Amino acid sequence: MKKMRKAAAGIAAAAVVMSMSMNTLAAGSIVGSIDMTKVESDKGKVELKAIEPEMFEEELQEIIEGLNKAPAEATLKEAFELVLKEGEELPKIELFSVEGLEKEDIDLDELKFLSPVMNLEITEAEPTEEDPVKVTFVANNVTDDIEVYVLHYCIGHKFPEHIVDGKVYKEHIAEEGIWELLETELESENEVSAYFHSAGGPVALVYMEKTEEEEGETDTTEVAP
Ligand SMILES: [Zn+2]
Repeated sequence: MKKMRKAAAGIAAAAVVMSMSMNTLAAGSIVGSIDMTKVESDKGKVELKAIEPEMFEEELQEIIEGLNKAPAEATLKEAFELVLKEGEELPKIELFSVEGLEKEDIDLDELKFLSPVMNLEITEAEPTEEDPVKVTFVANNVTDDIEVYVLHYCIGHKFPEHIVDGKVYKEHIAEEGIWELLETELESENEVSAYFHSAGGPVALVYMEKTEEEEGETDTTEVAP
């Protein structure tokens, strides 16, 4: 596996970040207290829609509606625990950048919602790992002490051959959808972008608070489009 980049990578610290207080997020559930975001893409067309009844197959629909009913301040771990059925385990979420897998088994207890779960529709383009679609989200609640990610329910994720704990996994396409995290880059003071390697679907902007060390970092790594 290639070298892991620091969690802070991709965020241009040089950008002047408007400091909006996270306290503006009033108490209440995720839907209703956190703004929807707007999107644009580098190819094809993208649209972000609020979740409506029967948008997805029943089980997934229940999970998404459940996540959106979680308290706005809930961590992803707390939100997923609310929707788990008896005997079900928390999803194991991996972090992807435009270059592929960055990190396995993300700690869901460190992540909170920055937007509700919404439905991202990518049309007139077929994103793949080799030819991803860059989607830019407007997020007015981004501050310089948080790291933003996209929580994405990925359908048809194509895994290249990789090794986990010494076991070799051949190239394959995930049979079932998987929850994953996509790294974002700060495009401007209130825009973040992420590369989608599969068709859209359920997405939410989520964030992790930066450690003091990361806040002081400057990042010069440019990710090729
Ligand atoms: Zn994927």
